[in-house]
Amino acid sequence: MSTVILKKGRAKPVLLHHPWVFSGAIARIEGEAQDGDVVVVRDAGGNFLAQGMLNRRSQIAVRLLSWDESGVIDSDFWRTRLARAIAARKVLTDDPGTTAYRLVNAEADLLPGLVVDRYDDILVVQFLTLGMDVRKREIVSLLAELVQPRGIYERCDEEMRAKEGLLSQEGCLWGEEPPDLLQITENGLHFWVDIKRGQKTGFYLDQRENRRRVQVYCPGHTVLNAFAYTGGFAVYAAAAGAEHITNIDSSAEALDLAKRNMALNGFAARDDEFVQGDVFQILRYYRDQGRSFDVVILDPPKFAHTQSQVERAARGYKDINLLALQLVRPGGALVTFSCSGAISADLFQKIVFGASVDAGRDVQIIERLSQGVDHPALLSFPESQYLKGLVCRVW
Ligand code: SAH
Repeated sequence: MSTVILKKGRAKPVLLHHPWVFSGAIARIEGEAQDGDVVVVRDAGGNFLAQGMLNRRSQIAVRLLSWDESGVIDSDFWRTRLARAIAARKVLTDDPGTTAYRLVNAEADLLPGLVVDRYDDILVVQFLTLGMDVRKREIVSLLAELVQPRGIYERCDEEMRAKEGLLSQEGCLWGEEPPDLLQITENGLHFWVDIKRGQKTGFYLDQRENRRRVQVYCPGHTVLNAFAYTGGFAVYAAAAGAEHITNIDSSAEALDLAKRNMALNGFAARDDEFVQGDVFQILRYYRDQGRSFDVVILDPPKFAHTQSQVERAARGYKDINLLALQLVRPGGALVTFSCSGAISADLFQKIVFGASVDAGRDVQIIERLSQGVDHPALLSFPESQYLKGLVCRVW
């Protein structure tokens, strides 16, 4: 097997089980390894550190898999890792009221670059690294064996695949071609999911528990659901007895599905409850009109994709939270999220504090929210703790 020798002083993250080796940490590669092959990683003194998948085309040159020198990365290894990830979701797989969840959360499940989401009897998979991409057939056949789905469908994340030197690829990989719209159940509520054209793999599964948490603030109240996508928070709010829900999203397709999702659960949805446009502009307009809401939910897309974008992203979060705070009636709630891994929970709280100062409002944190149980965060990989939310009481 080929060996990757690290530069002097660069072994520490590997010893601490961080799953990435950056190209800049590598002194040399010994042997004939092809990109995608398993390699042994050694420190500058030649001591064994770990085994991982090589990709010279990526800045993350090795994705680590095992810190065990005697372990063999074969079909049994992959089967055991996949089975372990699936078994860890027992609380969800045993719940008949929920048929959609993440079965494999990439690095956080020690399966770098592999995402597997279950939508009822269809699996949607993403191969985000070259190492996983070259093992696609093996992984798909193991998933078919372990989960026995009706079909396995591939979605891609163009940006992440491009960084690995991979082209976009989507389509049915195994079993039956899934329909364009699939119906799933989440906490007893029903949703149409467009796994082929929707965002990510079709649904924001990481917000499942938070959608339920937010229900307690909704009965009899007016709710502004900003960045609504296909109406996840709206359906939960309606189920909790919200009086009126305004949904804003820039995507007309998402809002169409949001309407259908309300109807699917038997909730009346008037057209004026779905507003297509830019949340920043529309919130400013509502503020200028003097409108207010009992509950404002802000679930924006990732503003910071890298560390270098943090400052700009922080301004975006500040602006949107300032506008939202100006719309909450005294005593009402702001539910605000950031899914940018590069923005820490601490920084996010500071940003919301800054917004509260500018808004001239006293704000109490009443709950801190995170990503769902099927999106575990690996302690040795802090990047996997990406979603944070604050439920605030606004005076
Ligand atoms: N809360 C949703 C997920 C939101 S994902 C759920 O629970 O399912 C973020 C959404 O923001 C996407 O649907 C995207 O279309 C939308 N979006 C991104 N930028 C926007 C903008 N500037 N104005 C309005 N919507 C935006």
